[in-house]
Amino acid sequence: MAKIAKFQDPIFQDEAKAREALEAVLWPDGPICRHCGNSDQDRLTKLQGKSHRPGLYYCNECTGHFTVTVGTVFERSKVPLTKWWMAAHMINSGKNGVSAHEIHRTIAVSYKTAWFMMHRLREAMADLAPTPMGGKGKSIQADETYYGNSSKRAKGYRKGHSHKAGIVALVEPKGRARVFHVKSATAKVVRNILVTNARRTSELHTDESKLYTEVGREYAAHKTVEHGWNQRGYYVGKDGQTTNAVENFFGNFKRSMKGTYRFCGEQHLQRYLNEFEFRHNNRSGLGVTDGERTALAMKGIEGKRLTYRPTN
Ligand SMILES: [Zn+2]
Repeated sequence: MAKIAKFQDPIFQDEAKAREALEAVLWPDGPICRHCGNSDQDRLTKLQGKSHRPGLYYCNECTGHFTVTVGTVFERSKVPLTKWWMAAHMINSGKNGVSAHEIHRTIAVSYKTAWFMMHRLREAMADLAPTPMGGKGKSIQADETYYGNSSKRAKGYRKGHSHKAGIVALVEPKGRARVFHVKSATAKVVRNILVTNARRTSELHTDESKLYTEVGREYAAHKTVEHGWNQRGYYVGKDGQTTNAVENFFGNFKRSMKGTYRFCGEQHLQRYLNEFEFRHNNRSGLGVTDGERTALAMKGIEGKRLTYRPTN
């Protein structure tokens, strides 16, 4: 019911309000010409009155007309912005995501449209400019897991890990996560992920897997814990190190995938990982509200589509 109550917000009801909210997110310093990138507010005019469609601007630099959605996926999708805001809100409320089927029923778009919107939102949630993780005095937990349809009745079922997709995750305890779909988690693959994402001044915490032995020597320290989870709870190494944070991330991902999405094909796995990584890195525990997380996702949709050339 919380979701329904939230839909009382004008951005979910009124297209003009939804557009203004998108403008506020995408253009915090005022409109930017969609055609030439001009952002000089003295050279941009808002066109008002009945003869113009709402939200239309005129650019004195290139004499072009534009709105906030011109040239974006919002324009091409023909889905009202109110519904984009609803979908972005739904995927960003709670930890588990939301299925395309639920979007389809709740916001009244076709299933195909709901599926398209969800994938676009997942792409929007990808961090395209990641900053290095960890650092001096900080620890990074690294671990790998396998994901796939393990039902014995599934087509092409084979025992073992070979038929499943590999996932490698780096997690800062109480901080950010970064997650990668890999063909196979080899020592070379995990090293490449570690050294390009986590500062070597960090302390590396992993299980006793041999995958991390060599790369561990490149880090300030490498501390291990006995493998995985047992019925008494987590293992804790003699210096207090654990891999709880990364195991919790995998646990939540797998439970939610099973509960919300049932199964996703390997070709889409990275998108789903982006979604879980995004919610983790913008969670309420780090001071991000549902509304801010939703706005960030909406912002990302456009951010992935910016193609205009910079001015001067
Ligand atoms: Zn222009």
